[in-house]
Amino acid sequence: MSNKTVAPSLVVHVRELLKHPGAHRHVVLRAMLPGVTSPVARVPADVPVLVEAEVESVVEGLLVRGEVSTTATLSCVRCLTERQQEVQVEVQELFALNSREAEEDGYAVLPDDRLPLDTMARDALVLAFPFSPLCRPDCAGLCPVCGANRNEVDCGHDGGVADERWAALAGLRERLDRDGDGSGPPAPEAGRQAPTEEEDDARPEA
Ligand SMILES: [Zn+2]
Ligand SMILES: [Zn+2]
Repeated sequence: MSNKTVAPSLVVHVRELLKHPGAHRHVVLRAMLPGVTSPVARVPADVPVLVEAEVESVVEGLLVRGEVSTTATLSCVRCLTERQQEVQVEVQELFALNSREAEEDGYAVLPDDRLPLDTMARDALVLAFPFSPLCRPDCAGLCPVCGANRNEVDCGHDGGVADERWAALAGLRERLDRDGDGSGPPAPEAGRQAPTEEEDDARPEA
């Protein structure tokens, strides 16, 4: 095992707690925490991470229950635009009294009776990051031809506006109906033929 001696940023001195099983203490910690990143989200280096938790002295070690929060920067997976979003995640972790016991889980009280919460906070935040953040639910993404952000500009490339696609499908259906053996019913005139260009929000239900 390599000795990771990076000084933790989120630390609680717990000597007194360890002497009194059953005792607990409320802690509020705030620090910059490097390396909180996923492929589509990160916590910038100058944005603090907040940990608010109850630390309880139990037989096996210290039980930490509370919340980790910060402001993350998310990248839209369609248009790559970045935006800020609050991230809050509940945590409940047991910190073993010595690192050997904690090898599987990874969380342990330091030999000098300090409780390092960096790794727990980092793990919790990264797990809480969205896998596919969008700048908005209907993000139009980037043009595959010229790379323009279609939310901001109409570059004119054939991008398949929803209305056109639906119109093409409707036309195909009509042709299929007609090309049948003739026993098929005529396409219903009412409703389907009504122009819907005005109603971007109400999609045709076919
Ligand atoms: Zn977007
Ligand atoms: Zn384009």
